[in-house]
Amino acid sequence: MKIPFTGGCACGAIRYECAGEPIMMLKCHCRDCQQLTGSAFVPAVLVPAEAFRLTRGQLRYHFTPSIARGKHKRGFCPECGSRVTGGEFEEQSQFVGILAGTLDDPSWFHPQMDIFVSDAQPWDQMDPAIPKFDQYPPSSTKE
Ligand SMILES: [Zn+2]
Ligand SMILES: [Zn+2]
Repeated sequence: MKIPFTGGCACGAIRYECAGEPIMMLKCHCRDCQQLTGSAFVPAVLVPAEAFRLTRGQLRYHFTPSIARGKHKRGFCPECGSRVTGGEFEEQSQFVGILAGTLDDPSWFHPQMDIFVSDAQPWDQMDPAIPKFDQYPPSSTKE
């Protein structure tokens, strides 16, 4: 992975750049992520919010209630509907979750943990070698 790294949506209306190292890479298997993607999980790269910036376009945000606090904030391309970000809380957040599939080079994504495995589907195959948490990890803001 090169810093800064870049990515965007399917149509190109949204482009972003990240000038910082990822804090964590994980797969979230919760029902919201299943429904929002139509898939089994969301592969997310958490980065410091101050390191992330849009270089083209503006995200449209949609929200769902969070079991932790407030609402989850997820960013979509208003033109093509691609989901680009997630994992943020509505009120404030010190990090942004970038969906790995939107990276210009998604091949460097290496998940370090699985979260919300209590919601995982039987057809969702997980790597047994990485830590698993029923919901959020015990300390979800550090490391
Ligand atoms: Zn788009
Ligand atoms: Zn999720």
